[in-house]
Amino acid sequence: MKKKPIIIGIESSCDDTGVSIVRNREVLSNIIIHQKIHKKYGGVVPELASRLHDMNITKAVKQAIYSAEINQDQIDAVSFTLGPGLIGSLLVGTSFAKSFSMGLGIPLLTVNHIQAHILSHFIQKNINNSYPEFPFLGLIISGGHTQIIKVNDFFKMEVLGSTLDDSVGETLDKIARILGFYYPGGPVIEFFSKNGNNKKFVFSKPVVGGLDFSFSGFKSDVLQFIRKELKKNAFFIKKNLSDICASVQKIIAEILLEKIQKAILKTGIYRIALAGGVSANYEITRTFMSFAKKNKKCEIFIPKKEYATDNGAMIAITGLLKYERNLFDSIHVTPYSKFETF
Ligand code: AMP
Ligand code: MG
Repeated sequence: MKKKPIIIGIESSCDDTGVSIVRNREVLSNIIIHQKIHKKYGGVVPELASRLHDMNITKAVKQAIYSAEINQDQIDAVSFTLGPGLIGSLLVGTSFAKSFSMGLGIPLLTVNHIQAHILSHFIQKNINNSYPEFPFLGLIISGGHTQIIKVNDFFKMEVLGSTLDDSVGETLDKIARILGFYYPGGPVIEFFSKNGNNKKFVFSKPVVGGLDFSFSGFKSDVLQFIRKELKKNAFFIKKNLSDICASVQKIIAEILLEKIQKAILKTGIYRIALAGGVSANYEITRTFMSFAKKNKKCEIFIPKKEYATDNGAMIAITGLLKYERNLFDSIHVTPYSKFETF
C-alpha cells in the first residue's frame, strides 16, 4: 500500500504562530500560539509580532510533533506561508522552514496564505463534512483581506473583487476599539450583539461598482455617529452596546451577501465557501445560510472555527495538495508582503 504522506505546515503571516501536522487530509495536530501582547495596542505591532514568532516557533513545532504522536523523521515535507502578510513575521516562518527542510533533507512547499484559507475547506471533517465542488466562489473575510475569488481548481484561482481600503476584520477591530474593547474586536462585537436589536441603528452602505468592496466609509459613519451621540450622552455606548454591535454586524453581513449575490449572477456559480477569521461570525453565517435556504441552488460552506482564523492546518493541507502534484519549491524563495493576483 502507498504510504500516506505526512506534512508539517507553518503559519506566521501575522500574529499567530500556527503549526500543524497532517497525514493525508487528516489533521493529526494543530497548535496555535496567540500573541496577546497586541491587545493593549489596539492592533498588531509588526516588530513585536516578529519577535514573538521567533520566541514561539520552536515550541509550537515541538508541540505539534508531540501531539501528532509521530517522530520528526516521519515528516515527508515542510510547507509554510510565504506571503502575503507582515514581512518580519513571514521571515521567521520562512527561515525556520528552510532550516527544517535542510536539516531533515525533505522538500519545501511554499503556500499563499489566501489560497490556504480557501483550501482549508479540504481538511477532513469540516462542519458540513463535504467538500465544495469546483468551480466555487471563495469569500475571504479576515483581518487582512476581503476578497471574492473564483476557484476553478485547487491551484487555479481568480480574484474577482477585493476591498479598496479596509478589510472586514479591520473594520470590526476599529469599531470595537471606539467601543472600548481590546484587539481582536470581532469576537467581542459578536459577544455583545447577542440580544441586541439589529435594526436599531442604520449606517451607510458603501457604493462600489463591480465585485469590489469598501469599508472605510461605513467605518467612519459608525465612528462619527458614536462620537456625536457620546457628546449628547456620555453613557450612550453603555446603554446601547448590544444594539450597536447587532446593527453593525447586520449591515456588514448584508454588504457581503449583496456582493456575493452579484458574483453569483456574474459567474452562474452557486457554491460559496466562506473563509478567514470573520467567517466564524454567527450573524454572517446565519445570513448566508438563510439565503441558501431560500435559494435551493445555492450551497454554503463554512469552515470549522479552528480552521477559520489563521492556523497551521490550512497551510499543511495546501502543502499536502502541492506535494501530491509535485509542486515543490526552491530553498531560494523569499517572502512577499503584498498579493494582487494568483
Ligand atoms: P484572520 O486574519 O483570518 O486570523 O482573522 C482575524 C480577524 O477575524 C480579526 O479581525 C478578528 O476580529 C476577526 N474575527 C475573529 N472571530 C470573529 C467573530 N466571531 N466575529 C467577527 N469577527 C471575528
Ligand atoms: Mg488570514
